[in-house]
Amino acid sequence: MDKEDYIIEDDYDPQSRFEDKDIIATRFWEKKTLEQLTKKEWELLCDGCGKCCLNKLEIKGKVCFTNTYCRFLDTKSCLCKIYSHRLQKVNDCRDIDIQAVREKPRWLPKTCAYVLLDEGLPLPSWHPLITGLASSVHNAGFSLSSRELINETEVEDYENHIVKWEDL
Ligand code: SF4
Ligand code: SF4
Repeated sequence: MDKEDYIIEDDYDPQSRFEDKDIIATRFWEKKTLEQLTKKEWELLCDGCGKCCLNKLEIKGKVCFTNTYCRFLDTKSCLCKIYSHRLQKVNDCRDIDIQAVREKPRWLPKTCAYVLLDEGLPLPSWHPLITGLASSVHNAGFSLSSRELINETEVEDYENHIVKWEDL
C-alpha cells in the first residue's frame, strides 16, 4: 500500500471519549447486555489496549498471539492510524462486534472489556470507564504501550514471535 493510500489520523484525543459524564455515571455496562448497548456505549467500552491489533497464528485450533503488530497501529498511543477507513484498507482488520467477541477460538485478549462483560465479569479497576482517564490502561501496564513489539513489516517468521503474556 502506498502512503498516499491512507490518511494518518493523528489529531484524535482519546480522552475526548470520556467527556460525557452523564452516560458514564449510569454505569451502563453493569446494567445491559452487549446486545442492549447503544453504539456510543459500545465504543466507550473499548479500553484502548491495542492488543486486538497484534498478529496471531492459529495452531491446532488455538489462537497464539505474537508480539508483532499491524503496521497501522501507533504503538505509543495504541490507536489505529487509519481508524475511520481501516476496514476498507486492511483486508484482515476485524470490526469488533458481538460475533467477533464470541468467536471461538477466542482471538481477543482475555482483558478485552467486551470479552469480560460477555463472560459476566466486571471491568477491571484500570478501565478508563472506571478511572475516567483514557491513559489508565497504559499506566496500569495492560496496553501495548510498554511492551517489546515488532512491526509486521520487519517480520520474517511469525512463529518466532509467539508470546505468552498473562493478559492475552
Ligand atoms: S482488545 Fe478489546 S478493549 Fe482492547 S483495544 Fe481491542 S477491542 Fe478495545
Ligand atoms: S488497521 Fe485494524 S489491525 Fe491495523 S491498527 Fe488499525 S484497527 Fe488495528
